[in-house]
This record gives sequence, C-alpha cells and structure tokens, in this order.
Amino acid sequence: MSSKEYMKSWIEENRDKVREHDKNWKLNNPEKLKESRHKYYLSHKERFVRSPEKNAEACKKYRESHPDSLRDWEKKNPEKRIEITRRRRSRKKNVLGGHFTEREWQALLDHYGRKCLCCGTPESEKSLERDHVIPLSKPRTSDEISNIQPLCRNCNIKKGTKSTDYRKGVR
Ligand SMILES: [Zn+2]
Repeated sequence: MSSKEYMKSWIEENRDKVREHDKNWKLNNPEKLKESRHKYYLSHKERFVRSPEKNAEACKKYRESHPDSLRDWEKKNPEKRIEITRRRRSRKKNVLGGHFTEREWQALLDHYGRKCLCCGTPESEKSLERDHVIPLSKPRTSDEISNIQPLCRNCNIKKGTKSTDYRKGVR
C-alpha cells in the first residue's frame, strides 16, 4: 500500500475524527479559513461568477417555480418595486449618474410643501408624480433628485416631453 493510499484509507476509517479535527481547526483559525476560502474562490472563480445570461436564466427558473414569492415581496415593498421599475426604465435609456431614492423623493415633497409645483394642488387631493424636469427621453438627462419635481397627473400630462422647470421661484 502506498502512503497515499494508506492516508486515504485512514481517513475513511477515521471519518468522524477527521471531521472533528477539521471543525476545531476552523473554529481556531478563522483568519486562515477566510484566506483559504478566498484562495479557493480566486482559483475557481468561474464556478462562483455566473454569466449575466446564466443569472437571468436562474432568476427566471426561480420565478417560475416560486410564482408567489415576487408578488408577496412586491406587496410588502411597494416603494422598492417602484424604484426598481424606474431604475430599469432609466437604465435602458442610458441615463448617466445615480438614481434618486424614495427617501430623497419624500424629502423633496416635504421641501415643496407636498403639493404640485405647477397648479399647487396638495398631495391630499391628488397624488403627486415624480416628474423629470428634463425628461428621461432626452439626451444628457439624469435620474438624480436634482432633476425631479412633484407634479399632479394633469400637470405632468400637460408638461409632456417639455423641459419646464416649475421649481424656479418656488424655492
Ligand atoms: Zn398640478
């Protein structure tokens, strides 16, 4: 029996002992463990990093096998869902820069007294929409809070694709 074979059979016979030893070593050497895991990750990266196509495929499979999970999540996180949809939309149009958050939007509403900047209708009467001063369809626009103004549905429709800044003079 070669030494390698011997080792192998010894491990087989002492599986529990090996496992115990392994566990203790991991507990006593958290840094080394981290390092060895990192090394393993680096040399097997392709196993961890999914290609975008594969990732999309996996997501699709998950959604198909868990049809309610996304809906439940959306119900529990309505603002998040709006944010994600909006980001996806603006990403498609190659909008540069960051994206405003729900928190920034709420702060903006507070800043302008929670009313339509065009006609002055308060939020309590009409829900206010996140209007992009320079529309997302235009080049050199942004999805940052500096490009957002609250408008009611009517005024937003009237504004259309124009770049009317109703914030001027309101501040
Ligand atoms: Zn209005």
